[in-house]
Amino acid sequence: MRALADLLTARIAATGPITLADYMADCLLHPQHGYYATRDPFGAGGDFTTAPEISQMFGELLGLSLAQAWLDHGSPAFTLAELGPGRGTLMADVLRATRGVPGFHAAAKVHLVEASATLRRVQRQTLGDHPVIWAEEVTALPDDAPLFLLANEFFDALPIRQFTRQGQGWAETMVGLRDGRLTLGRSAPAPLAALAHRLADTREGDVVETCPSALPIMAAIGARIARNGGAAIIVDYGDWQSLGDTFQALKDHRFADPLAAPGEADLTAHVDFAALAAAATPARASQMMTQGALLERLGIAARSARLAQSLTGARRDAHLAATRRLTDPAEMGSLFKALALYRDTPPAGFDP
Ligand code: SAH
Repeated sequence: MRALADLLTARIAATGPITLADYMADCLLHPQHGYYATRDPFGAGGDFTTAPEISQMFGELLGLSLAQAWLDHGSPAFTLAELGPGRGTLMADVLRATRGVPGFHAAAKVHLVEASATLRRVQRQTLGDHPVIWAEEVTALPDDAPLFLLANEFFDALPIRQFTRQGQGWAETMVGLRDGRLTLGRSAPAPLAALAHRLADTREGDVVETCPSALPIMAAIGARIARNGGAAIIVDYGDWQSLGDTFQALKDHRFADPLAAPGEADLTAHVDFAALAAAATPARASQMMTQGALLERLGIAARSARLAQSLTGARRDAHLAATRRLTDPAEMGSLFKALALYRDTPPAGFDP
């Protein structure tokens, strides 16, 4: 199906090259042809696999960290929210792991922020009859109760802009046309206020990416946590500051050309955790840590050994491989990072 490629080609022919952010937004979320709008991309039959799809332990451990933070708040009525829940697996694991925390379920109102109608249906199935409220936007989350929030592989799916340093200015990567086909080019360099602080730590030719739509999302979460209490745990691939070209397409578990089949491949970029933390003030941000270190602090070794006891043969091997995949630095353990937002003390596993 070339429908989205044709739409983008016609648009660029009519009005000129578009930013990567505009391109990504259409490819991922176009209401008819967008990647997330048209499919369930997860798992072995899909294009990529995420931590909650690899092992139930991911959601269990993050859920118990949030539940401990909730107990430390004095067990108030609260909003339990997730951004971009995919299949709903993470929230299902959180809810199962916290069944034994007295009062937690009764005090929680579950809110899922999900743009895709297709994935909302999958989430409804995964969560069975547990009451859930869906929202299109983070700004629709309640602002009158503590907010305990999770986001795994959400921010990497938000549209980015990409800039190459030239002198004291920045040339933006644009999607244009050559011989009627989509192609990458660069705008003329210009100064950019949003990157003024990066002139000090970059050199000629360095590439830096920004994620404009992440900033109001972080501001909305930070304002709620600072006002009403709560905590947020954000996990994604990326680093403390953006550096280098990380714009990528994944199709059938392989890297693909991001321009080859608009709407058919997952498009992502690495997350700039420093930018997320800064946008969340006045909420406080923890130290960023690796996913592997976080899960180890939250007790994945003991939890994994416990689950292994009831497994044999191939299922036991798969479980042990999943544990390794989540924590090993050669797999997801160090590429993926975690950051917590909080008001008074960081949730279990994180340092202030
Ligand atoms: N957290 C899940 C899925 C990650 S994929 C997991 O770990 O398995 C990204 C998710 O974010 C999908 O559910 C996608 O539909 C959703 N999403 C992407 N952009 C969004 C946006 N702008 N607003 C709301 N949801 C979005």
